[in-house]
Amino acid sequence: LACCQLDDKQIVTEYFNTVGFDRWRRIYSETEQVNRVQLDIRLGHAETVSKVLGMLDAAAIDWGQHTVCDAGCGVGSLAIPIAQRTPARLLAFDISAAMTEEARERAQRLLTPEQLARCEFRTADLESIQGADPVDTVCCIDVMIHYPAEQVEAMLSHLSKLARQRLVISFAPRTFYYVLLKRIGDFFPGPSKATRAYLHSEEKIRDILQRNGWRVQSEAFTATRFYFSKVLEAVR
Ligand code: SAM
Repeated sequence: LACCQLDDKQIVTEYFNTVGFDRWRRIYSETEQVNRVQLDIRLGHAETVSKVLGMLDAAAIDWGQHTVCDAGCGVGSLAIPIAQRTPARLLAFDISAAMTEEARERAQRLLTPEQLARCEFRTADLESIQGADPVDTVCCIDVMIHYPAEQVEAMLSHLSKLARQRLVISFAPRTFYYVLLKRIGDFFPGPSKATRAYLHSEEKIRDILQRNGWRVQSEAFTATRFYFSKVLEAVR
């Protein structure tokens, strides 16, 4: 298992530093030209981000005293708007150095010096972030798609040790329809589909959250033609 986990991670890291970086940098942009499928994914993902921001807006949080961690931040699609609308301290990290660097550059372009001063962008593997310095809210959006089912429990337990108050996660739910869709996708892989996509049982995710001391406070689901993501906001 340790060997497979390493393999999966190496593949994901390599992908998001090379072809995946170029593909997702364009998808997670508002201005870059993308194809029809990528546009659909862009719009779906933007909906997920906006739903997560809505959940954070609705929470009774004293942002001035709050720390947020965006685990697997990509190009900063969630971290940057959080920094724009709250005075929270923010740690955004990603296993891909290329993604982290892009997030940092976008933040430098879009944030004021004050906002930027509260943010840290770091290249790091989720599992290497330790709970010595716990944060109040951990967000981990559209990252679990890179984790096989047997590694999700350890991943969520790890994030649970980091998060004091709130854990916001998203995943692609493993319903029959989507399993089928994924099979079709596997059968006709597009040229830039270089990583495996893992779907997850919502029941199992909820069970893991509960066993780690969480209560699901709110949820959201976004489905477009080529993108689907379930968000769960869990609190202590
Ligand atoms: N969360 C971002 C968002 O929603 O805009 C990015 C989502 S993107 C589909 C998945 C990201 O997770 C990639 O940038 C990838 O490098 C990162 N990732 C995957 N496994 C990771 C790990 N073990 N630790 C940190 N980041 C990871």
